[in-house]
Amino acid sequence: MFHSLYRKLIAGYILFGILGFLTIALLSDTLTRQFLVRSTADSLYTDAAAIASHYSNIAQAKTTDLALAAARLESAAECTGTEAWIIDPQGKIAAADTDSRIGAVISDFDPTDRENRRYDIGRFYNTFQEDCLSVTAPITGNMTTYGYVALHLPMSLINRKTEQILHIIYITAVVLYLLSFLILRLFRTQIYRPLKQITYAARQYADGNMKHSITIKNRDEIGTLADTLNYMASKLGAMEEYQKTFIANVSHDFRSPLTSIKGYLEAMLDGTIPPDLYPHYLEILISETNRLTKLTDGMLTLGTLDDAPHLVRTSFDINRTIRETAASFEGQCDRRGITFSLTFSDEIQMVLADLGRIQQVLYNLVDNAIKFSHDQSTIYITAIRKNDKVQISVRDTGIGIPQKSQSRIWERFYKSDASRGKDKKGTGLGLSIVKEILQAHGENIDVISTEGVGSEFIFTLPRPRSS
Ligand code: ADP
Repeated sequence: MFHSLYRKLIAGYILFGILGFLTIALLSDTLTRQFLVRSTADSLYTDAAAIASHYSNIAQAKTTDLALAAARLESAAECTGTEAWIIDPQGKIAAADTDSRIGAVISDFDPTDRENRRYDIGRFYNTFQEDCLSVTAPITGNMTTYGYVALHLPMSLINRKTEQILHIIYITAVVLYLLSFLILRLFRTQIYRPLKQITYAARQYADGNMKHSITIKNRDEIGTLADTLNYMASKLGAMEEYQKTFIANVSHDFRSPLTSIKGYLEAMLDGTIPPDLYPHYLEILISETNRLTKLTDGMLTLGTLDDAPHLVRTSFDINRTIRETAASFEGQCDRRGITFSLTFSDEIQMVLADLGRIQQVLYNLVDNAIKFSHDQSTIYITAIRKNDKVQISVRDTGIGIPQKSQSRIWERFYKSDASRGKDKKGTGLGLSIVKEILQAHGENIDVISTEGVGSEFIFTLPRPRSS
């Protein structure tokens, strides 16, 4: 029953209400009554003491009899709402605000049994029919007690006052309790409902529905949580989409060489290809397996770059690395009459980077430059010192990259339409590997290209601090 947060809170509120009202009923009733009794008794005692002091003077001066005090008592009683008496030491009521009491003798009257109590609650030696709050102040002087001033207030009056105050407390408590339901409502709209939405969304995401969006407008922690979840879902969605295209690309790129390998092998087996043509077709088969190897290597490299690439940074001469990379393409370039023009701003230029990875960057860029260059052309490679960096550029005068493809060439498996016809061996992974290696170094790469004119790839590498 209480599995919902909201229900738990409602149950808590009801329990709080019941306990709250019980506390008020028990505690406030007792405390208010005690307070009223004490404060009334104090003020009555002050009055009684004042009257007692007045009669003490009179009694000492013997100017008057205590019995003649009735007139003064009447006004005192009227002011305080009490019955006021003057009792002589023998317990006879010498004066009172009501005539009927005068002369009555209080049996067992023993003021010494009061033990310093200023007031009593009871029937005052059985002289009243109901409980009264009674205070007695002695009339003293010259080491003599002439009598006592006694003021009696019916407890019913104090009880009525207590009830009136409790009434106010109850009304205030009810209003506060009702107002506190606003908090419950606020909790429902601001926390409970958004939480339910978030739980529902999380279930949707778990079921693979990444398109589900949480519509929470709150500008607080709950809103931030919803935004974060929406962001997470969009990222996961994009990742899912990427994985789908990745698998589609991989299977497509693997299938075509595999299909041609299978086709040629079958043709060789069933005799469609005569043995004297085997060398030619075996060369095609080797080229196709090379392509498969290149694809697998590329994917493995990207895999290592994906999970936080570990770079082994050393100081090395970039000019030398460029020279060595260019030299590795010598055979290919000679066949097509392609030459290199290398320009360096200094004889030796040290950079701080992962040598193996930078060799791969240069290899991929030069490989592309050769692939997309016309025969008998020149490839320009420069390494220029720029403040604390060395800027490297690989430029060709080949077919160039169409404007609309320029932002996409960094994507995995992307090949422009032109290259599909010209470069059948390409995997579309080369530039994405280049970009990720440079990003791992904290550097970037730019391309400037015009279709039919050529392309230039420019990137920077940091120089070691001391050089
Ligand atoms: P590929 O293995 O196909 O070369 P890359 O990722 O290296 O894959 O390159 C992606 C695409 O970018 C190529 O298919 C090609 O269309 C284009 N490209 C890269 N370098 C050049 C260049 N130097 N000249 C023209 N096009 C280029």
